[in-house]
Amino acid sequence: MSSSSTTWDYAPAPESAPAEIAEAYGLFIDGEFIEALDGGSMDSIEPGTGQLLTRFAVAGQADVDAAVAAATRAQPAWAALPARERGKYLYRIARRLQERAREFAILETRDGGKPIKESRDVDIPEAAKHFFYYAGWADKLDYAFPGRRAQPVGVCAQIIPWNFPLLMAAWKLAPALACGNTVVLKPAETTPLTALRLAEVCQEVGLPQGVVNVLTGAGETGAALAAHPGVQKLAFTGSTEVGKKLAEGVAGSGKRLTLELGGKSPHIICEDASLDQAVEGIVQGIFFNQGHVCCAGSRLLVQESVQDEVVEKLAWRMQQIRVGDPLDKNTDLGAINSAGQLETIQRYLALGQEEGATLHESGQFGTLPEGGYYQRPCYFENVQPAHSIAREEIFGPVLSVMSFRTPEEAIQRANDTPYGLAAGIWTDKGSKMFELASRVRAGVVWCNTYNRFDASSPFGGYQQSGFGREGGRHGLKPYLKLTSWGAEG
Ligand code: NAP
Ligand code: MG
Repeated sequence: MSSSSTTWDYAPAPESAPAEIAEAYGLFIDGEFIEALDGGSMDSIEPGTGQLLTRFAVAGQADVDAAVAAATRAQPAWAALPARERGKYLYRIARRLQERAREFAILETRDGGKPIKESRDVDIPEAAKHFFYYAGWADKLDYAFPGRRAQPVGVCAQIIPWNFPLLMAAWKLAPALACGNTVVLKPAETTPLTALRLAEVCQEVGLPQGVVNVLTGAGETGAALAAHPGVQKLAFTGSTEVGKKLAEGVAGSGKRLTLELGGKSPHIICEDASLDQAVEGIVQGIFFNQGHVCCAGSRLLVQESVQDEVVEKLAWRMQQIRVGDPLDKNTDLGAINSAGQLETIQRYLALGQEEGATLHESGQFGTLPEGGYYQRPCYFENVQPAHSIAREEIFGPVLSVMSFRTPEEAIQRANDTPYGLAAGIWTDKGSKMFELASRVRAGVVWCNTYNRFDASSPFGGYQQSGFGREGGRHGLKPYLKLTSWGAEG
């Protein structure tokens, strides 16, 4: 046991399997990896070390045109395949993801900074599950929406963020392909690697050319793709700010749109809850993945009578969190995704204190790896509902602790937000659980647990957290034209 902390010191346990990373990557268009037409490229940094990991192509307008053209050419034949054949391709992708899971986990961790145990146990298996799940729907679409005729929408532009790079790609690609659409996917600029490796898997399983295209690049690439007239459907996961711009751009164009945006999700801890279990849920809900989770439980609303006890337990539990090398199998909290995101988090830590809240920084003592982007877990006390740290999404391992007296006040505080993505409710009383769950405005409400996902369960938000659902049968709908039998699609 270390003398300076209550945490056991473990010997380093780095994940050491080989996972090849090339010096540079091209765009994936029409089944081939090619350079950007104007030769543009960008660096991808390894957040755990701050060092260059690889370079990747930046797609310009001409590349966007080429990718949309490839997807347009491929779409009729893809849609005309017997549905069970489309399903087979999805099964094959799922299996290859499982077979190459270790390699994908290492790439995800090196490119994005998340702990290897999360990429290994959550991101990659969940991504494979999504392909398995939607493979099963491919030949059952007429049963998914009884009495309606289900036809594909066409070419889909899909733009995803950096917090769950492969999983977000799977959430988007699997239902789109199952429904007979073709896709142009734009990964985030800090985490392009696993989307490109997934493109390789598409080649391996013999997916017809042009069905999936991957365009790496920056925000301008995403903007050009979203604005392309050849795109029939736009699916975006990312910030509310960019989501709003895309919604304005799409208005009147006839394009379909789904948005999965930010959040400021509350936990409501009632005095009758099992407090140890609740504290574990809070810790998982905000420190999991460095708080880079759109549905992170970043606002803690705790009933006054148990506030001191909960905060004491939380402070103790946070000391046990291991912060450090993302590739180490014992690490709980890895690296912040980018220098820019670390700056944002640190700006909020300063702002919270200026506003009058009290900052507690915690986690394992000792030194953090040099060169990388690290932030120990933090919580704020003396937070007022009007403080920025109680209202704005920080997207880091930072929790704001507030209290309530009555369940009525808990609901009012929980709903006092422009967002509405998720919520956690902790109580031993079933009737109270149902009452609170039905009155909190959030797309997902977890009771006595947090951050549980399943491919068969829909996910999405209210208000500024976006609209449309991904996952489950609901997740098919944005990718289908549903008409009455006999009517023209
Ligand atoms: P972001 O800046 O909105 O970026 C998301 C994606 O959009 C990236 O691929 C980005 O490319 C691209 N992009 C940037 N500007 C664009 C533009 N003008 N037009 C089209 N595309 C553009 O968000 P982020 O900071 O990467 O991700 C964090 C946010 O995502 C958080 O707010 C989080 O809550 C949200 N999120 C929501 C969910 C959900 O399911 N609701 C899930 C995950 C994340 P670059 O990377 O090159 O900038
Ligand atoms: Mg990176």
